[in-house]
Amino acid sequence: MQNYKREILPEWGLATQMVHGGQTRSQHAETAETIYMTSGYVYHSAEEAEAAFDNSRPRFVYGRFGNPTVSMFEERMALLEGAEAARATASGMAAVFASLACLVKAGDRVVAADALFGSCNYIVQEILPKWGVETEFVDGRDLAQWRKALSKPTKAVLLETPSNPSLRLVDLKAVCDLGHAAGAQVIVDNVFATPLLQRPLEFGADIVVYSATKHIDGQGRCLGGVVLGTAKYINETLQPFIRHTGPSLSPVNAWILLKGLETLELRLQRQCEVAERIAKELQGHPKLAHAHYPTLDNFPQVELARRQMKSGGSMVSLDLKGGKEASFRFLNALKLILISNNLGDSKSLATHPATTTHQRLSPEQKAAQGIMPGLIRLSIGLEDVKDLLADVRQALDAA
Ligand SMILES: *Cc1c(COP(=O)(O)O)cnc(C)c1O
Repeated sequence: MQNYKREILPEWGLATQMVHGGQTRSQHAETAETIYMTSGYVYHSAEEAEAAFDNSRPRFVYGRFGNPTVSMFEERMALLEGAEAARATASGMAAVFASLACLVKAGDRVVAADALFGSCNYIVQEILPKWGVETEFVDGRDLAQWRKALSKPTKAVLLETPSNPSLRLVDLKAVCDLGHAAGAQVIVDNVFATPLLQRPLEFGADIVVYSATKHIDGQGRCLGGVVLGTAKYINETLQPFIRHTGPSLSPVNAWILLKGLETLELRLQRQCEVAERIAKELQGHPKLAHAHYPTLDNFPQVELARRQMKSGGSMVSLDLKGGKEASFRFLNALKLILISNNLGDSKSLATHPATTTHQRLSPEQKAAQGIMPGLIRLSIGLEDVKDLLADVRQALDAA
């Protein structure tokens, strides 16, 4: 039987790889990726089943730890990231948790940037210490704090850059070097940048994690996550953890994410252009203290942004002068942009992080992370730029 798998040539660009990468075709030679909707697999003989379980003849054994549609998504993601291997998970949080939990045991130490997605912060602040793992937060922008925290042996470093929602950056190369000197594996949550704008492995990161729910699906349809790294880490450390704890991605969701990858470059290019334009046009607006966007000249870490990112991304953070009241008036006046805590969607979305995604943090923690009462996070979608600008302007007038 012929195998209709396309060989992906290394000289092909990422857009090409995202359309064809990882696809295996059945004997029916279908054009589109197939959804293998099965929980289990059958064996021709008892001997074949034995060989599958002792791994002398590796093959799909059970849906919790292997499915052909999920494998296509994993292979396409590995191509995109330039990683040796990838494992998909049911959500971004499952990816973050599994990537860390499979590395650490009681007595180990984890250092993390303080500006993390709310649930990532919860894992480091609440869950790991309960299990005897020592954790320490640093201001991710401050190399002196990283140097001090990483002067002790450390098992893992977790960071996000740009951070959610205040768009703070971490110097990937410098922190990866410090982390390695402390014996740590460096895990980068690369959701805001996506692999198209920033490839942490090239700066020395060991592990990259994504919420595929965000730009990879990009159309608000399903949850998903993925962990990428060396074949050794993925197959020997992460895979047993996933196999026995079960945060598996559904084949249907893997298919949706495969289709998302086909248009990722096209969507992101447009979203980044529009986000930068909106941030630029809002500079100096009387209702705003700041309109943050990583590649604008007035961004405090603009040099670092230009060094490690190809573009500033699809997110804009607005600092309204009037605090929470003005922020709520702004959100309630929006006619096109939707109020939602999601991001990376084709629909533009606006969030007030201090009262939603980061509500759980103490006032001190919020202040330390730049989550001020007047901060609005805008996730730019695929609408016409003139409509988005008009909506933001009229809502600022109402604020
Ligand atoms: C959304 C998000 C997550 C969690 O992903 P889910 O798919 O919602 O579980 C983790 N990190 C960042 C930066 C995110 O934006």
